[in-house]
Amino acid sequence: MLDYVGLEADLGEEERLIRDTARRFVDEQVRPDIGDHFQAGTFPTDLIEEMGELGFYGSNLDGYGLPDVSETAYGLLMQELEACDSGLRSMASVQGALVMYPIHAYGSDEQKERWLPDLGSGEAVGCFGLTEPDHGSDPSAMETRAERDGDGYVLDGSKTWITNAPIADVAVVWARDTSAEGRPVRGFLVETDRDGVTTNEIDDKLSLRASITGEISLQNVSVPEENVLPGVSGMKGPLSCLTQARYGIAWGAVGAARDCFEQAREYALDRDQFGGPIARFQLQQEKLAEMATEITTSQLLAHRLAELKERGDLTPQHVSMAKRNNVRMARDQSRVAREMLGGNGITTDYSPMRHMANFETVYTYEGTHDIHTLVLGEDLTGIAAFE
Ligand code: FAD
Repeated sequence: MLDYVGLEADLGEEERLIRDTARRFVDEQVRPDIGDHFQAGTFPTDLIEEMGELGFYGSNLDGYGLPDVSETAYGLLMQELEACDSGLRSMASVQGALVMYPIHAYGSDEQKERWLPDLGSGEAVGCFGLTEPDHGSDPSAMETRAERDGDGYVLDGSKTWITNAPIADVAVVWARDTSAEGRPVRGFLVETDRDGVTTNEIDDKLSLRASITGEISLQNVSVPEENVLPGVSGMKGPLSCLTQARYGIAWGAVGAARDCFEQAREYALDRDQFGGPIARFQLQQEKLAEMATEITTSQLLAHRLAELKERGDLTPQHVSMAKRNNVRMARDQSRVAREMLGGNGITTDYSPMRHMANFETVYTYEGTHDIHTLVLGEDLTGIAAFE
């Protein structure tokens, strides 16, 4: 496996163990069928609990039986899952960073006890409802509202592009509290079997096909006060979750790009044209050299992010830079790898084209490439290009 500057040597025992466990799980349980899942537009739901047993959900969180591993170990886990498929990493990212994290950071003791053990073990599945049909890059313009009703709230609105919504037991729904001054955004834990909640699958995707995506419709949904996340108010709630998930994406993208590189290198050495392996041609070597360099620099950025996160110095802008750079890198390099595989590269027998298609989603979700560019632009100039 590509590790050009010897990062392996700096890993601790636990970090290696987690990485190897994830790599073995992926190789034995997921990789053999992932092309079929991609083609069928299905997620291997039978593996959700096993992923929980292996500690893949919320593994960098503590308490409630959660693994509390290092940020590097968490990153390596995301890297190995995405080396298989972005859909697999999305499952772990949503469950851990977007559902368990807000409950862990902002939930009441009762909410933590009710949900964290079940979500950690994969007995329950969660989803994160922020995006709406008319509000994607600008979620603060959300229309979903929560109105006071006696001791609780009534929710109305719709969310779309929600990973795992059709199979979720609970949705973290972000809505404007219309009864409070300033109409702040609040987080609501909405069990999906409540009256008025419907989830429809979006089944015409050409990207991230091995992942379940859906809409959430909320019509007059009553939730009690105890389902509101008490510890946060305003856009800080959803945005802080996204920072956690984007951190995992910065790592995961490196895994997918590495998988493309490994396939391209192997293919170039095996494939003979003009009387010998295509790897002997300078044009092919240039592609491999560029790919290895791009992957290595992205790997270094991901490792540095882990150090900053570990000591509490990681900013959302650092994460924007890494998500933006590493995802663009993986999107570009998966295309180069596909090209090196010739005609075989357009089939599901090889991973690069599947990764390439997936990266159209990863480039767009969790803040589009453009939006992260503007986040960095503001940080570098002090001038905001958007509110
Ligand atoms: P838009 O915001 O309409 O953007 C369209 C284009 O305009 C983009 O190129 C964008 O970069 C550009 N643009 C927008 N604003 C600006 C600006 N100010 N300056 C320059 N360019 C701009 N959301 C959830 O809440 N939960 C999930 O689990 C989830 N899972 C997803 C899974 C999939 C498969 C997909 C595709 C999306 C998912 N999303 C989820 C939604 C995702 O986060 C949004 O698609 C994303 O935020 C972009 O919003 P949009 O699609 O509405 O695009």
